[in-house]
Order: sequence, then C-alpha cells, then structure tokens
Amino acid sequence: MSARRVTGGRLVVATHNPGKVREIGDLLRPFHVEPVSAGELGLPEPEETGTTFRANAELKALAAATASGLPALADDSGLSVAALGGEPGIYSARWAGPGKDFRVAMEKIEELLAASGSPDRSAHFTCALSLAWPDGHVDTFEGHIHGALVWPPRGTRGFGYDPIFVADGDSITFGEMDPDAKHAISHRAVAFRQLIDACF
Ligand code: IMP
Repeated sequence: MSARRVTGGRLVVATHNPGKVREIGDLLRPFHVEPVSAGELGLPEPEETGTTFRANAELKALAAATASGLPALADDSGLSVAALGGEPGIYSARWAGPGKDFRVAMEKIEELLAASGSPDRSAHFTCALSLAWPDGHVDTFEGHIHGALVWPPRGTRGFGYDPIFVADGDSITFGEMDPDAKHAISHRAVAFRQLIDACF
C-alpha cells in the first residue's frame, strides 16, 4: 500500500524535546506544514513499551494523532552494537541513567565489549520515523548508518554516543565531525529523505 501524503496544515511533532521540535519543524517548513509540538498541545507522553525502534515510533505517533485529531510524526533512534547482541538498541537513552550521562553509557559499552572478548567493534545507528493519522493509518521509514566504535571517546560536537562512533569510510568520530556533514549522512537523514519522498 502506498504512503499517505500530507498536503499542508497543522502537524504534530510527537516529542517533548524542544530541540527535536525545532529541527523537525525546520525540515518540514518548505512543505507548507505548520508544526505544533505534543508539549504545546498538552498531550501525554506514552510509555515506550515496544520491542523495536519501529514499534516505539509507531506507538508515539499514533498516540499523538488519536489524541489531537491531526497527523503526527514521531521518531525513535539508538545505537546497536553487534558484539553485544544489538544492545543498547531501543534502550540507548535509558543506558545513560536519570542524569542522562552518556559518558557512563559509553563506558558501560566499552566494559561489556572488553568482557565479551570479541574483536568485533562494529555498530550501527537506527532511526525509525512514523507518520500517523487520526484514523490509525501509519507509515514508517527506517534509516541506518553503519560504522565502528573507538575508545577513548573523541570530540565534543553532537550528542549521545557520537564521540565513540566512526562511520564506515570515515576516520573521525561523529563527535569530531562538522554537524552539517553528520546531518547529511546520518540515520536520521536517511529516514527523513524516505519520509519526504513518500509523504510530502
Ligand atoms: P530517543 O530520543 O528515545 O529516540 O533516544 C535516542 C537515543 O539514542 C539518544 O538519547 C542517544 O543516546 C542515542 N542516539 C540516537 N541518535 C544518535 C546520534 O545521532 N548520535 C548519538 N547518539 C544517538
């Protein structure tokens, strides 16, 4: 079944993170969409009970679309480490703990990698992006970027696990990379390009 297109009007950005609302709003402005955030509308934040990136993106988008009566966009993303069976995966944010300390999360990955004895340092980022409608229709797009983990962390740009991730074909980490260069190749950019092509 083909994806449903957005022809303008208000669209809920189903996140309570103001940085994400701004970034997604900027991307959608050329398509005559008026972004409103889930926070502005006072929508509750659903619990992320899914077991995949796709399931979590879809449940967030559907909850916002049904509660608001408007189309709604949500994303879910994270880092999957091959030698750790894909962890932290959908738990990427949660591994940083309540203090959102990603130094702690990166150290945990490095310790587990050392304990695994595996020489495999490959990892990938995933971004699932879902556009849901009040009648329950939902279209989901997934982007990946593959690379390898380095230690110690390098660079102060970006966020989350950026300082330990080097994309295939690069030699600097996402934490050292110019943000525009990262945004051109990232898992989020790949998913967004698919969304724009199919739905706008
Ligand atoms: P979400 O906001 O629930 O999707 O959580 C995503 C988590 O995955 C973030 O808190 C980061 O830890 C991690 N993550 C996702 N994308 C990136 C990225 O581009 N760089 C670094 N970490 C990322």
